[in-house]
Amino acid sequence: MRGRDAYLGAAMPTLRSLEALESEGLLLPDPRLPDAAQAMAIAITPEMAALIDRSRLADDPIARQFVPSGAEAEVSPDELADPIGDEARSPVKGIVHRYPDRVLLKPLHVCPVYCRFCFRREKVGPGGEALSAEELAAALAYIRSRPEIWEVILTGGDPLMLAPRRLAELMAALDAIPHVAIVRLHSRVPIVDPERVTAGLVRALKPGRVGVWLAVHCNHARELSPPTRAALARLADAGLPLMGQTVLLKGVNDDVETLEQLMRALVTARVKPYYLHHPDLVRGTGHFRVSIAEGQALMRALRGRLSGLAQPTYVLDVPGGHGKVPVGPSYLADDPGALTVEDVFGGQHRYPPG
Ligand SMILES: *Cc1c(COP(=O)(O)O)cnc(C)c1O
Ligand code: SF4
Repeated sequence: MRGRDAYLGAAMPTLRSLEALESEGLLLPDPRLPDAAQAMAIAITPEMAALIDRSRLADDPIARQFVPSGAEAEVSPDELADPIGDEARSPVKGIVHRYPDRVLLKPLHVCPVYCRFCFRREKVGPGGEALSAEELAAALAYIRSRPEIWEVILTGGDPLMLAPRRLAELMAALDAIPHVAIVRLHSRVPIVDPERVTAGLVRALKPGRVGVWLAVHCNHARELSPPTRAALARLADAGLPLMGQTVLLKGVNDDVETLEQLMRALVTARVKPYYLHHPDLVRGTGHFRVSIAEGQALMRALRGRLSGLAQPTYVLDVPGGHGKVPVGPSYLADDPGALTVEDVFGGQHRYPPG
């Protein structure tokens, strides 16, 4: 653990190159690293770098998420450039419209960190710039022209990387569309760059009429450091309902104790676990992938141990743009003429088939 200044993010900039990682002692030598760095931008905030245990770099759950690895060079034939089919569902630049009642709006492609397993791995990065003023106007016009759009989900990139003034303008524009009832934001900022959650940013999130929900992406209890918990408290105290989304990742959180600690820590920080995402078939991320059977076994174990408040829904984004579905485990066995329900302790019970 580093000193308090670095911990608070005052003493070190975001690490953005192999050289910077090397000089911080965060890199394990591998001849394939330049290729990994080429395939996806690097960024590790000082807060996250300070959490890394340098004595066990190879299996540190924070390092594993953000430090490039030679394993990213291994691409299997099942892996896809557009793993969840965003392209196929994009009617105008910056919009993904897959479900009738809600759209994704991606105002920018930058993030505070670059997660090596990212499902938009081939889209995020400092090279992909924000929507231009005209493009954003066209995206808003699309939303305005579709009365069935009830919810707008700001994602990216990371929408909380917008300057508070620009975010406030965007929120106000959405607030002014009468059929938009909900604006949901998906962000990693409160977790990995908590000092960005300023009073100005919190104010920008409260435009007036629409209901605003914030989902934070968090994969390990260690990410909930004191400054991060303070940032989440600022958001919750401002009245924003908070949800958690977690990606199930081998070597990061694929054991029941780690998931249990994470879910308890989220609920304690007033963040309701929403989704546990099965990892997508992203190119070069095979080293993060677990099987659906393993994911189901973990969910079953969590169900037996944890408050309902702390239970996420385990979901798979069906490749090809077909949307998300819960993938169990199922507690029902469907025999002809009878229904068997399994309880969380493994007991079997008959239930009238109805
Ligand atoms: C994930 C996603 C949503 C949101 O789905 P919820 O189940 O409502 O969280 C909406 N649109 C697209 C295109 C998505 O990928
Ligand atoms: S913050 Fe989200 S969008 Fe950005 S790299 Fe990480 S997973 Fe991808």
